[in-house]
Amino acid sequence: MKILVIGGGGREHALVWKLKQSARVEKIWCAPGNGGITEDAECVGVDTGDVAALVALAEKIAPDLTVVGPELPLVNGISDTFAQRNWPIVGPSRQAAQLEGSKIFSKEFLLRHNIPTAKMYGAYDAAPDAYATLSGVKWPLVIKADGLCAGKGVFLAPDTDAAKQFLERVMEKNELGAGGHRILLEETLEGEELSFIILTDGERYAPMVPTRDHKRVFDGNKGPNTGGMGAYSSDELLPPGLRDVVISTIVEPTLRGLASESIPYQGFLYVGLMLTEDGPKVLEFNCRLGDPEAQAIVARMDFDLAEVLEDTAAKRLDPSKLRWKAGASVCVVLTSGGYPGKFETGKNIEGLTIVKRYKGVEVFHAGTKLERDLLVTSGGRVLGVTAVGDSLEEAVALAYRAAEKIQFNGLHYRKDIGAQVGRVTAAGD
Ligand code: AMP
Repeated sequence: MKILVIGGGGREHALVWKLKQSARVEKIWCAPGNGGITEDAECVGVDTGDVAALVALAEKIAPDLTVVGPELPLVNGISDTFAQRNWPIVGPSRQAAQLEGSKIFSKEFLLRHNIPTAKMYGAYDAAPDAYATLSGVKWPLVIKADGLCAGKGVFLAPDTDAAKQFLERVMEKNELGAGGHRILLEETLEGEELSFIILTDGERYAPMVPTRDHKRVFDGNKGPNTGGMGAYSSDELLPPGLRDVVISTIVEPTLRGLASESIPYQGFLYVGLMLTEDGPKVLEFNCRLGDPEAQAIVARMDFDLAEVLEDTAAKRLDPSKLRWKAGASVCVVLTSGGYPGKFETGKNIEGLTIVKRYKGVEVFHAGTKLERDLLVTSGGRVLGVTAVGDSLEEAVALAYRAAEKIQFNGLHYRKDIGAQVGRVTAAGD
């Protein structure tokens, strides 16, 4: 098999690493890839949002399978374009990707199918209508920009003033661009968050191991939201009884709802859950694997990913093929100092050769590039030190032992990935 992986972050490095282990895989390309991925795949510099350029690339290299990592090409319709040409691809259609691309579409879908979620106060495309609603809501209030806003579109407003300020910035001053022109007001949910990701061919589905991510930049869930500072997976995150509830009240109604609305869904579906006192409720859908959840998930895969993804694209997914390593995994993200604000790039990365010798550890690259054969930093999230262990404590200790060996100027990482940091009550924790 020849495989094209689209994307260039830690999630895609993890996918490439796992796909490469399959005896059926002959060659992998990654578009655009990154400095670390070049060791495992041929990287081709194509913009992931540019569907026409990706089609031209696929035309040239004729992959047997294409796997899409990030949301942008999906929201831009790459799957539909590939489907028209009968090219096998793992990733949902443009319409299905609206579950992530439009918070309002996703909320209305959840309500239509009676799937538990936060109560919606309303959806608005004019700021005065949104202001008018503020007098009748409970505080804190969650405000969500409708479109893709690079993780900046959700705000937990403590009071009317804060809500008005955010609405003004987003709806009147266009600070988040087109993604913020429509907004949604909803109730704040309290509880622990959990990422439950499934792989589906539109009919059958297979759950991934459960994961939890850490979004805030500093220990103890302090500081601004990031793309993700780390994630971990352990079966204890989701006891069997609760898992059954998630499947019967959320996963299956979602897949039935999509089928009943003739929305073909093929690929990974990420269900962001809040485990509330009234049971699990949907916070959000993503039309792809999460990053860094993917790194923690891939580390526990005990099956041929290339075969399973080929089956998914051909609509013959066999859930019994997905087997998982017992125990736990963790991914600690090493970032450039200053991220998610301003940061410098081009710093030399050291210590990776030492870490290569650590059994049970893989370092997945996100923001790295090769400069005259030397690896340097090129983004906010630089590396994901990923470890497996018989227990979460073991995996966490191993990941941190490895992380300590890596150095670059300005390096920052959280020291509490995998620790249970109390109840999560604020948006973005
Ligand atoms: P989203 O962009 O929808 O993924 O939301 C980002 C984060 O905001 C989630 O991971 C939650 O931490 C938080 N969040 C979203 N909706 C709510 C809600 N209704 N109540 C509490 N927190 C929320």
